[in-house]
Amino acid sequence: MWKISKQGKASYCLVRLEIMCGMVLLLIVSMVSLIFLYCRQNKHVAEEGGDSNYEYKIQPPVESELSEIAECYLCGNNKRSLIGHYRGNDDIGIICINQWYIAGLGVRSFEEQDSIGSQNHRTSRFGTGEGGDFFQISQDSSRGISEVEIDYGENSIFDLKVVKGQLCQKCLDQLLNVLDCYGLEGEEAQPRDLCLIDFQTMELYALQEHNRSYYIRDYYVQIHMDDRGAEVNVFYMPPSSL
Ligand SMILES: [Zn+2]
Repeated sequence: MWKISKQGKASYCLVRLEIMCGMVLLLIVSMVSLIFLYCRQNKHVAEEGGDSNYEYKIQPPVESELSEIAECYLCGNNKRSLIGHYRGNDDIGIICINQWYIAGLGVRSFEEQDSIGSQNHRTSRFGTGEGGDFFQISQDSSRGISEVEIDYGENSIFDLKVVKGQLCQKCLDQLLNVLDCYGLEGEEAQPRDLCLIDFQTMELYALQEHNRSYYIRDYYVQIHMDDRGAEVNVFYMPPSSL
């Protein structure tokens, strides 16, 4: 490939011209590749950085369009809401807001337990209406446990249009207060159409991706949510009497 040539005291390395050109070309290709890889990595980092520009979003106040307070789906007696069936119960529930579907979790059993455990463990599966979420609730009321799995339906992002005609101003304000969420900067808030309810106090609690756990009276609620669905586990855990 090369020859050593000596002229007097100096030594020279003679390289064939095409080999020299090949080496220069290889060097140029290597440098171009390195620059390309570096730029690509920087672009990837910039894109990741862009996605992380999340901000905390709250729902702005909205005027209720319900004319008759007695017809409120939460505090009133509207026949199309099942809330009257649950109101005052010592239990926790989940509301699918867009469909106004109320799921009681039946964490505890209040029936006479002649045969403990025989009928207290049950699983139910149901949909909440067209485009709505799908629920699976596994209850073990003898132990005070309810495990809920929710698969989001096509229409699981909160939609204000319908609910502002279903709730009185006070209930609408309470609902909007528990629909805070995180979203991309500059984009509209997109909370899930879900919230928890304590049927005994009729208080609402947020059920969004950033919520992790709550104590609601003597109930401990664990929440895990992602883009596809939610897992909500509710345990009856009264303080131990020593
Ligand atoms: Zn109301």
